[in-house]
Amino acid sequence: MRKLIVGNWKMNGTLAQLDEIGQIQAGAAAYDNVDSALCLPATLIHAAKQRFADFQFGGQDCHHAPKGAHTGCISAEMLTDAGSAMVILGHSERRSDQGESDADVRAKASAACAAGLHVILCVGETEAQRDAGQTETVILAQLMGSVPDDIAAEHIDIAYEPIWAIGTGRVPAIEEIASVHAAIRTHLTERFGQAGRAVRILYGGSMNGDNAAAILAVPNVGGGLIGGASLTAEKFLPIIKAAS
Ligand code: PGA
Repeated sequence: MRKLIVGNWKMNGTLAQLDEIGQIQAGAAAYDNVDSALCLPATLIHAAKQRFADFQFGGQDCHHAPKGAHTGCISAEMLTDAGSAMVILGHSERRSDQGESDADVRAKASAACAAGLHVILCVGETEAQRDAGQTETVILAQLMGSVPDDIAAEHIDIAYEPIWAIGTGRVPAIEEIASVHAAIRTHLTERFGQAGRAVRILYGGSMNGDNAAAILAVPNVGGGLIGGASLTAEKFLPIIKAAS
């Protein structure tokens, strides 16, 4: 299966970063056996797609409604209109900062698919849940609650992002990543049958050029969702290279 390496720029980047995006796009072209993409602030997507039409861009959230009185929100159709191919949904920062529930994420995922966006749906446990031995229970509950039953498996990838590993420089042991990804795979195949085998399960949380090769070699790791190390070509390209 081709690996998918997605940068999550979070609330970073202005038009001044278009040149950096250009360097990422140009460098990534050397690894044509890897799917790579950048999920940008919504304000940058159109300009980036205009300049780098061959590269894949995405958003970081969308509303569950197609349009209407929702001040400050962005619909899935607006993201596709701006040039997005995908959207990150249910990121832990949105679950905590914006209070998004599994039901919210599920409704957003349905709306995104209806608008033709590929969904990267995030799940992950807190450090306290991990310490209490609840990681797999928490992840499976999030999958049950936030992945729509009627979604076509080819329209979704899952990102496993332990919350305590995001932006901290800490990563789980390889065996822990293997065991959580295996549990997610089992859930997906039980739910979606053979199609569940083709869903990519990305790892996210402090992935960088030094640890990417080892993480990407773990069974059932289909790629990475990268925050801090996706902001520059210098840091992001080694991760894409490790996936190739
Ligand atoms: P990080 O973020 O790579 O900076 O840890 C990952 C994410 O939040 O998607």
